Amino acid sequence: MSLRQIHSQDNAIDTFQRSMRLNRLSHAYIFAGIDGVGKKKTAIEWAKTLLCESPVKSETDDGVFLDSCGKCESCLLAEANSHPDIKLIYKELIRFSEKAENRKKTPIDMPKDVIDEFVVKQIANKPKKGNKVIYIIDEAEKLNAASQNALLKTLEEPPTFCVIILLTNRLDKLLPTTLSRSRVVRFGSIDENIVVDKLEDKGLDLSQAIYWARLTDGSLGKSLELSKLMANDVSLYEVKKAIAKKISSLRLETALETANSLVNTSKDIAKFWAESLENVSKSDISRRANRILLRMVMSLMSDAMKINIDRNSEIINSDQKDLIETLANAYDIDSCIENIQKVYQSMDWVDSSVNERLIFEEMLLKFTESASI
Ligand SMILES: [Zn+2]
Repeated sequence: MSLRQIHSQDNAIDTFQRSMRLNRLSHAYIFAGIDGVGKKKTAIEWAKTLLCESPVKSETDDGVFLDSCGKCESCLLAEANSHPDIKLIYKELIRFSEKAENRKKTPIDMPKDVIDEFVVKQIANKPKKGNKVIYIIDEAEKLNAASQNALLKTLEEPPTFCVIILLTNRLDKLLPTTLSRSRVVRFGSIDENIVVDKLEDKGLDLSQAIYWARLTDGSLGKSLELSKLMANDVSLYEVKKAIAKKISSLRLETALETANSLVNTSKDIAKFWAESLENVSKSDISRRANRILLRMVMSLMSDAMKINIDRNSEIINSDQKDLIETLANAYDIDSCIENIQKVYQSMDWVDSSVNERLIFEEMLLKFTESASI
């Protein structure tokens, strides 16, 4: 992997190349964009290039393009995720806290102690191998006010050999004081055709590839992750097709049974994730599982709304257009809007740890109230 191989993130790559050409690298950056568009990958490639022992320079129309060599010891360490000067900071580092009482915690927010112990207290430590230390703070949207305040002084005056990169999918969660001390680099969605091509290269058929590309707003990383996900030996794509069938034929008398099947599916997804994802707490995993199911349900309602507005609209569930038309007959535009709002509310409830069965039951009963059949 190298900077050149990062797709459709020209803004981030240009920012880096310009900063290197002008010798004006900032000490703090915020990479902002939806999940799965390559923020972490880009941050690691920036770091790799900064630390590379013999960076490759090639001529481009804009000047020199700097990239890592991929062969030196530093690059190999970076690729093995074990470079001592690339520090990945994530909330589950709390398990390695110096305070024994912290180690059993499963944090929802980024704990202040993680920022204190793994960033603030270590920031003065000189590079071990190269001439820079790069701190990459993952899920910066989970930095609460206390954690952001702990980080402030460091963001203001880090040692000259440090570069801090905050990764976030929610710029609005960062305090103005954090924003003003960092340079924001925006990550856009990847062009749908590129995502679809890549997914087809990985063996997905076209209709499935289009579905994931649209559901994830053009996030290649997320598409790949979700397309590989299994729930009790059934692929998530098959799960989504079954959910679409259930929701399109939803009636008052089937609402609770459908909610029950969503609860069970969510548990199956969480189980799969728990086996494959390290460093993520159980409660986070179950929230993520609930959120992905809600995202799928939301796509059905937003598709039905689009079809009600224009039968030729481009929809996410284009592979099940007949079911979307059934939904569009059952729910008029106003009902679709109400139902989409209900799904948003359900997502908020998931984040507030409301019981998942209650969330799905409430949502589906609300749908049936607004149905015209
Ligand atoms: Zn190298």
